[in-house]
Amino acid sequence: MAKDNQRPFFDDLMKEEKNIKETEKDFLENPKVIENYSFLQELGVFKFIDELNREIQNYGSLLQGGLDVFNRTSIDDIMDATVFQISDHFLPSFISFLWKPIQNRDDIVIRSYRNYKKIDLHLKVDSIAPFESFFQKYPKPINFELLSYEMKNEKATKSFGEIEPELMIPILGPFGLYGIIVVGKKILEDEYAPRELVFLQQLMSFVSQAIKNHLHYEHSLRDVKTGLFNHGFFMTRLNEELVRSRRSGCASSIIVMDVDKFKLFNDAYGHLAGDKVLESLAFTIKQGVREDDVPSRFGGEEFTVLLPNTDRDTAWMVCERLRSSVAAMKVPWNPPLPQVTISIGLYTFDEQSGIDAEEVIHRADEALYLSKERGRNRSTVWGSGLLFKIQHGMKEAVKN
Ligand code: GH3
Ligand code: MG
Ligand code: MG
Repeated sequence: MAKDNQRPFFDDLMKEEKNIKETEKDFLENPKVIENYSFLQELGVFKFIDELNREIQNYGSLLQGGLDVFNRTSIDDIMDATVFQISDHFLPSFISFLWKPIQNRDDIVIRSYRNYKKIDLHLKVDSIAPFESFFQKYPKPINFELLSYEMKNEKATKSFGEIEPELMIPILGPFGLYGIIVVGKKILEDEYAPRELVFLQQLMSFVSQAIKNHLHYEHSLRDVKTGLFNHGFFMTRLNEELVRSRRSGCASSIIVMDVDKFKLFNDAYGHLAGDKVLESLAFTIKQGVREDDVPSRFGGEEFTVLLPNTDRDTAWMVCERLRSSVAAMKVPWNPPLPQVTISIGLYTFDEQSGIDAEEVIHRADEALYLSKERGRNRSTVWGSGLLFKIQHGMKEAVKN
């Protein structure tokens, strides 16, 4: 869709370029110009025209590069496009991207490239906070030496100094300094020409804006308190997975979890201690699932995980693993808090299930409800038949 939207823009640009070329041709073919050719040449008119043409070309390629970067849908893709754009013009010894997710929970991320390839620069930077006030005051790309001179904070600039940067570009947004892009010196020649530096600065302003937008987008998918995905994103992914599973026939599972007797916990230890428990729980859940899974905070003290391409038996193992890691989880709080437990419901769907997202959640909820009924701190698989229930340790429930 983005590509279609771009079309009229590019068409206008091409039309404009054509107009300029025609005007130039008319000018050069004008008999008066031909008559006064040497005079105009002496004045430098033709050189000036050439320079303007080069300038137009530069802006054209900058716009194209900027749009290319903006159309990418992940930070990885933005970085790839940037490296590609830059390397098209000259070869820096490296480009490094440093950023921190908007929620401050996770560490800073560092990705470095040389010659289109990912490399490890051994850049030892764990915080960009010391650069915050400088870039707030001076929100532009800046030469590294100048930055070191102006900042007068040797400790902050030292580790960057070791990799010999040429340019530092801030990624700024409403939440402050999100990251820094660092471009190394040129490989082949000593210095960047002023024109190249201007190009680099302008392109990198696009890049930092694109990364910022992406961080905002990611932020909007997350729950603020726990950093897990939020309800909305979970539902979107669940719907996608239902469609995929209908098409491919592969089974996928969802797990719903609810903290046991959490109201009592809050009443006894306070809401802040309760919040800390939810944070630790989110961390434990995230640690206990794969990269492709979608751990989410469904609301309040309820969590869900979508496990794409995961059959019932595998998902059951995940349930039990999560349940026991929560039961053993240490919450950093003083004085120490008693152990919390969770109850779990599991539902697995495949192409034969033929039900919608709401029904999927309803079934996992029913299983969760049985876990609560059976005494909490346990997992239950949803099943429509008696045999199913017996198979999954529901003998007590059936007997009663
Ligand atoms: P059960 O084992 O049946 O689930 O008992 P419960 O007490 O956990 O169930 P109930 O649904 O009655 O209570 C949920 C509690 O979770 C009530 C609410 O105060 C608490 N809770 C929900 N969201 C938050 C939150 O963000 N922070 C804290 N601290 N507590 C929360
Ligand atoms: Mg609840
Ligand atoms: Mg509860």
